[in-house]
Amino acid sequence: MSDAPDNTKSGTDFIRAAIRKDLDAGTYPGVTTRFPPEPNGYLHMGHAKSICLNFGLAEEFGGKCHLRFDDTNPCKEEDEYVQSIQEDVRWLGFDWGDNLFFASDYFDQLYAWAEQLIEQGDAYVCDLSLEEIREYRGTLTEPGKASPYRDRSVEENLDLFRRMRAGEFEDGTRVLRAKIDMASPNLNMRDPVLYRILHAHHHRTGDAWCIYPMYDFAHGQSDSIETITHSICTLEFEAHRPLYDWCIQSLGIYAPRQIEFARLNVNYTALSKRKLLRLVQDGLVAGWDDPRMPTISGMRRRGYPAEAIRDFCAAIGVAKADSTVDIAWLHHFIRERLNKSAARYMAVLRPLKVVIENYPEGETDMMQAVNNPEDPDAGSREVPFSKVIYIEQDDFMEDPPKKFFRLGPGREVRLRYAYFVTCTDVIKDPDTGAIVELRCTYDPATRGGDAPDGRKVKGTIHWVSAEHAADAEVRLYDNLFSAEDPEEFPEGEDWTVNLNPDSLETITAKIEPALAALAAGETVQFERLGYFCTDSRDHAAGQPVFNRTIGLRDSWAKVKAKG
Ligand code: ATP
Ligand code: MG
Repeated sequence: MSDAPDNTKSGTDFIRAAIRKDLDAGTYPGVTTRFPPEPNGYLHMGHAKSICLNFGLAEEFGGKCHLRFDDTNPCKEEDEYVQSIQEDVRWLGFDWGDNLFFASDYFDQLYAWAEQLIEQGDAYVCDLSLEEIREYRGTLTEPGKASPYRDRSVEENLDLFRRMRAGEFEDGTRVLRAKIDMASPNLNMRDPVLYRILHAHHHRTGDAWCIYPMYDFAHGQSDSIETITHSICTLEFEAHRPLYDWCIQSLGIYAPRQIEFARLNVNYTALSKRKLLRLVQDGLVAGWDDPRMPTISGMRRRGYPAEAIRDFCAAIGVAKADSTVDIAWLHHFIRERLNKSAARYMAVLRPLKVVIENYPEGETDMMQAVNNPEDPDAGSREVPFSKVIYIEQDDFMEDPPKKFFRLGPGREVRLRYAYFVTCTDVIKDPDTGAIVELRCTYDPATRGGDAPDGRKVKGTIHWVSAEHAADAEVRLYDNLFSAEDPEEFPEGEDWTVNLNPDSLETITAKIEPALAALAAGETVQFERLGYFCTDSRDHAAGQPVFNRTIGLRDSWAKVKAKG
């Protein structure tokens, strides 16, 4: 059992309040929660909320949280998902210790409980088709109609159920139903299906079973077996709670308490495994961990720190009513974390060649650069400087407006960590008129970025030495959906019309040598441009590949400041 729960350390939302009350009343001796994913897809941001909540509660109350695979549906489940889910929960920073469970491990017990219900007269085998069952169920305004098989004897029910298990019947020909109340105002209580026939191979139990329990019969009983105290789930299960409680009471077994909260919705984002699976299967993204995906593996590959995702989940909190969270809020926490942790480097995304005419040919000067002004322990590095450099095309304007403080003809700017340079000439393509090269002079007295005569420049721009720079593939990611609500689309269309056609642009950038030497999966700042990470799949020594994690501008901080 867990240590004495500490009621004082946790937050004040309605779930924490309910748990505290249960502990004070002695209803439960401690706190055991569970995160119960179905292994039929990769985890996403919404699951992250549930993981942070369930594992967070266990931590705060000195209890534990189980990881339980809710693998009762053999058709869509795969071992690949079982592996990815564990990796993702761990990466988020949580640990289930020895408490890894599978609902399929309880199939024998669940079957025995089903027979118990039959023997008590609380369940019966029904031969109606699923369609007929739906018809008989009635509606919110009309009571249901009893199945003609409702009054079968216990003996006949037991015999039929055992033969269902033995594989005598085809899929869909019979089901086991709870005998509750066909007139209940709650449709879930109108003799719900508990078991169905499915001659399907299961990822763990193989061909041992050809009947499988429904979610409603498996979930609560699994919670009970594991002596879960608080079974936290999303709002759509509120109407299932009476059934959850009915099963447990009818069986006379240990009773956990189910509490519901609102699921996470985020604008510009789809959070449904069905939709994410479609994106993967139709090749609309490059897999479950495509950096544009809201999956945990996609966010990891994009360079989002696990801490930032946890910050976000803590900040949005839990509520009893559905709402949609602004994606800018998540981005805000990503920037906050990366600002502190990411080392700064120089890279030029859209290079413009600059020749420094008075700089000696063939010479290299090593400039000292600070790795992270936010982190004094991060130290410094040397960046090579030479006669030909690249700057960002955006940092030059031939005819600059007043407020443009970067480079223009006759203007002087600071090259970060290096020298002041003045633009003396602009070279254009004679055919297209496009600017292809600049000529500059530098002031050797300004080495390191300061003028001994005290003269100031208004702009500081980044650069890389042409001779020393490496080429890097840089993937510029943007929101996967251009519509704020991906579910809203014109009639006759499909939600995929809302996909952002510009969610990925791939360019070749020039990067300083130290960037080419990074290992895969590291996140850094490209000075003045944003945060970028080396791709965990494709980046290799001599073949740098970067993903744009996020730009530098924090629109959320701005919204908050205004509000
Ligand atoms: P999806 O709707 O994406 O298919 P699901 O609920 O079917 O999700 P499960 O694997 O059953 O996926 O989910 C495991 C747990 O994660 C459940 O307790 C579920 O309530 C929770 N969960 C799923 N999506 C969200 C979400 N958007 N916000 C909060 N919790 C969620
Ligand atoms: Mg589910």
